[in-house]
Amino acid sequence: MHSLTKTALSFKGIGRRCVALNRFSETRIICRGLTCAAEHGGHENELYDVIISGGGMVGTAMACSLGLDPNLEGKKILLLEAGNKKVMDKVPDAYSTRVSSISPGSATLLSGVGAWDHIMNMRCKPYQKMQVWDACSDALITFDKENLQDEMAYIVENDIIVAALTKQLENLSDQVRVQYKSKVVKYTWPKSHQVADAIPWVQVILANGQTLQTKLLIGADGPNSMVRREAGIPTVKWNYDQSAVVAVLHLSEPTENNVAWQRFLPTGPIAMLPLSDTESSLVWSTSHRNAEELLQLDEESFVDSINTAFWSNENHSELVETAGSLFRTALSVLMPSAGSARQLPPSVAGIGPKSRVMFPLGMGHASEYIRHRVALIGDAAHRVHPLAGQGANLGFGDVACLTQLLSQAAFNGKDLGAMQHLLEYETERQRHNLPMMAAIDLMKRLYSTNAAPMVVLRTFGLQATNTLPAMKAQIMAFASK
Ligand SMILES: Cc1cc2nc3c(=O)[nH]c(=O)nc-3n(C[C@H](O)[C@H](O)[C@H](O)COP(=O)(O)OP(=O)(O)OC[C@H]3O[C@@H](n4cnc5c(N)ncnc54)[C@H](O)[C@@H]3O)c2cc1C
Repeated sequence: MHSLTKTALSFKGIGRRCVALNRFSETRIICRGLTCAAEHGGHENELYDVIISGGGMVGTAMACSLGLDPNLEGKKILLLEAGNKKVMDKVPDAYSTRVSSISPGSATLLSGVGAWDHIMNMRCKPYQKMQVWDACSDALITFDKENLQDEMAYIVENDIIVAALTKQLENLSDQVRVQYKSKVVKYTWPKSHQVADAIPWVQVILANGQTLQTKLLIGADGPNSMVRREAGIPTVKWNYDQSAVVAVLHLSEPTENNVAWQRFLPTGPIAMLPLSDTESSLVWSTSHRNAEELLQLDEESFVDSINTAFWSNENHSELVETAGSLFRTALSVLMPSAGSARQLPPSVAGIGPKSRVMFPLGMGHASEYIRHRVALIGDAAHRVHPLAGQGANLGFGDVACLTQLLSQAAFNGKDLGAMQHLLEYETERQRHNLPMMAAIDLMKRLYSTNAAPMVVLRTFGLQATNTLPAMKAQIMAFASK
């Protein structure tokens, strides 16, 4: 199916809100019937107000956020995670390969749930500038804060984010129960009260046979979400023709290292994200075959490949260079003070031991984020290409939005699993997530070719955008949320 059609399909969630609003009175009547049924039966299994399925970065942040909300005090909240508890008594000397660029908006959320100070105390690298350039023309765009004291974003290891949130959950043990090594194997959805043996709540069955019930199930179980699949929520998804190779890089010499670098090669973007004065993190998206080859290379050849990918001019063509330089000259005549000077990325001297790993990349979007008594957050609802470093940030945005709506619902004495506020969540988040996802997918496609007309067009586009501070500020503001 054409991607535009798929994208149109994925707007269903926003559109259906209007239809669903008309059905509220009907839904409310059914809900009331269901609540009565529960009060008279259903004490067999433990009943929670909220169960969060999946304790990755996003699910754990959700648990903290709900546990800290004063309006949700006294609610029974449970976080279920299939894996082990991730504690970090001491920060490991070596950096982990899995890192995320955390936007200021996400930092605010993590600060609000009391995890940001832990993160800063453990390990976190702010950066103030980003340079993105095209390997086929060297057209570039830079993003920086007017005031270089302000952080553009932060590079944080995923394990550190989860460990900080886990520590905070320990402080919230009166508000939130957490069960590790608890894989959910089945969900049963609420049925109409007219059906014999109807269960009014979502039933959650664990691999150990334990059965739980919840008024609201939050699916935070990642891109292959079982919650999404079992709820029958339609999902638009495709695999990219790329895998990401990640590694910890040792730089040739210490630098201030406060710039995030990304170069678009025809085979995919290569990014170097700062970790410390001497180390950076590599995210190199490339064809599956090249990714496999990169993993097999000895360290020296791997390092050579990285330096070549950042420095080589092999994809330049005379036609594009001439067109680009004419356009650049015209822009500098029209706007003499606009634009920004090219900076050169640091060169790489080595990699962290056993730090090379690859991940296949894909895009996915649940056309509905909610069902009666169910909400999806994080990668369970949306999965994006890492080229813009937005996946976890979109998930933290979901957490902030859903917490605020559930808090309001609790304050107003509403049923947390009811459609009214869940629909608001879906609408609000799809309005933010869909344009971001579309922009990321478009970037991926736009830069996956070295056909001259396309390269010339994107070179003009990038150079022009680079001279428009207001537009760059808009892009930064959108990506910072
Ligand atoms: C190479 C790469 C680079 C990236 N860089 C960035 C970046 O710079 N910035 C950024 O914002 N994002 C980035 N991302 C995206 C980011 O990693 C993801 O968006 C984020 O990890 C999603 O978190 P999540 O908690 O939603 O899902 P996951 O991390 O997938 O967590 C899901 C959790 O659910 C648990 N689970 C699953 N099924 C069950 C079950 N049946 N029962 C119980 N538990 C279950 C799993 O054990 C897991 O812990 C990157 C991704 C990749 C691949």
